[in-house]
Amino acid sequence: MNIPQITLNDGNTIPQLGFGVYKVAPDEAERIVSDALEAGYRHIDTARLYGNEAGVGRAIVNSGIPREELFITTKLWNDDHGRQSAFDAIDASLERLGLDRVDLYLIHWPVPARGKYVETWEALEEIKAAGQADSIGVSNFLPHHLQDLFDATETVPAVNQIELHPKHSRPQMRSFCAEHGIAVESWGPLGQGKYALLEESAITSVAQQHGKSPAQVVLRWHLQHDLIVFPKTANRERARQNIDLFDFALSSDDMAAIDGLEEGLRIGGDPDEIG
Ligand code: NAD
Repeated sequence: MNIPQITLNDGNTIPQLGFGVYKVAPDEAERIVSDALEAGYRHIDTARLYGNEAGVGRAIVNSGIPREELFITTKLWNDDHGRQSAFDAIDASLERLGLDRVDLYLIHWPVPARGKYVETWEALEEIKAAGQADSIGVSNFLPHHLQDLFDATETVPAVNQIELHPKHSRPQMRSFCAEHGIAVESWGPLGQGKYALLEESAITSVAQQHGKSPAQVVLRWHLQHDLIVFPKTANRERARQNIDLFDFALSSDDMAAIDGLEEGLRIGGDPDEIG
């Protein structure tokens, strides 16, 4: 499986397509991630919040895949903001994963009400320097949160992982990140199965033309917008389908038709409110 790599602003590379494990039950994580690794995924996106880091870790060990061939992301949860809490949080995540480093460590939400995302970011800079995370980034940060990091710290986040799908495609946010050299990761890339996204005629007609499923068309749309994407599924057949994206391409008309679905329909909460 030849999955494209994206070069981050710190020089590290990330597989553009991965596998997400939000809402994968802890007792199912090992089986589901093992299947994903067998299907060819090498990039796994987890978080302390998901409660399944240990299962992800067992699947990694059992796979026998050399560590350097894998790209593992986890995230610092909202009640772990603050310098010492961040150090404790990465230690605990690494222990659950059974790893001595992750490839990418993210602040899950900015939680402005706690007023600690700058301090937490400085802790992530130290975590990177200590070798516990090769790259560091953020998630659900809006431009003004990012600006606070630019103003106060030395490191521009390597990625911003944000809700992004055709019904909430965030062109301004994408431009802002591109201007600052921040790679964008799309969470909820399939709209989490909501809003009947995969039944939209703009998508089903393109799918029919290419002999692909609507999910494959949407994932291809993300890839062709240079987004990093890691769809989630507990279903083996769908996991195989979601990685089978490299034998077709959307035309500029196809892309424009899907871009036209944008209507600012958010699944998640407001990053200024959550926490
Ligand atoms: P998603 O858009 O990947 O949707 C997953 C759902 O889509 C599945 O449960 C299934 O119902 C459907 N689906 C998957 N493959 C399909 C197929 N081939 N055909 C038809 N339907 C299919 O949503 P997600 O899981 O929320 O997002 C992906 C990943 O992003 C997560 O697993 C997690 O790693 C990450 N995430 C991060 C945040 C954050 O705040 N940083 C929030 C949510 C998710």
